[in-house]
Amino acid sequence: MIGFFGGSFDPVHYGHLKMARAIKQELGLSQLFLMPCKTPVHKNKLHFSNQQRLKMLNLALLEFNELKIDTREMDRQSASYTIDTLKQIKAEYPDEKIFLIIGEDSFNTLETWKDYSQFSNYAQLVVLPRPTYARGSTSCIDVIFAQTPLVDVSSTQIHAKIVAGENLDGLLPENIINYLSKL
Ligand code: ATP
Repeated sequence: MIGFFGGSFDPVHYGHLKMARAIKQELGLSQLFLMPCKTPVHKNKLHFSNQQRLKMLNLALLEFNELKIDTREMDRQSASYTIDTLKQIKAEYPDEKIFLIIGEDSFNTLETWKDYSQFSNYAQLVVLPRPTYARGSTSCIDVIFAQTPLVDVSSTQIHAKIVAGENLDGLLPENIINYLSKL
C-alpha cells in the first residue's frame, strides 16, 4: 500500500509533514510520496521556483526520513492533471493499493478537478482534516476521512510572516527556515 500526497509545497511546512507522517502510520503505508506539482491548475502563482520547492522538500526529509519525494508532476512539460498522474501511477504499480491524499480545502474543490469521478478507478482518496475548513461532500466518490490530529499551519500564513519579518519557528523545519533566510 503506497500513498501520494500532492501539493504545491510552496514551501513545505509542518502541516504537510506531520500530516504525512500520521497518515502513513494510520493507513499502514509502506511508502508515502510527497508529490510537488509543477503548474498548479487550482492556484494562481507560486512564490518559489520548482528548484527551490524541491530543495526545501529534500531538507524536510532530513527530519522526516520516513517520507519520499515523487517529482513526476514537476518534471512534466505541460500542466498536469491528477487523473493523468493516477493513471500513470496505477500503470507503474499494477498490484499495489494506491492512496491519493489531499487536504480538506482541496477536497472541497474536488468537483472542479478534471474527471474526478474516475479517481476511484485508480486510487483510494483520503482526506486530511484541516482547521477552519468545513467538510464538503462529494457524493459520487468513495472517500476515507483521516483521523489525524489537526495541524494549524499553511503556506499562506508562512508568506504573511515572511513579509512581516516575523519568526517562523515551529511552522516548518529549522533547516528550511535557515534556507529561506539566505534567499
Ligand atoms: P496555501 O496556504 O497556499 O493554501 P497550503 O498550506 O494549503 O498552501 P499546499 O501545498 O497547497 O499548501 O497543500 C498541499 C496539500 O496539503 C493540500 O491538499 C492541502 O489541503 C494539504 N494541507 C496543507 N496544509 C495542511 C494542514 N495544515 N493540514 C492538513 N492538510 C494540509
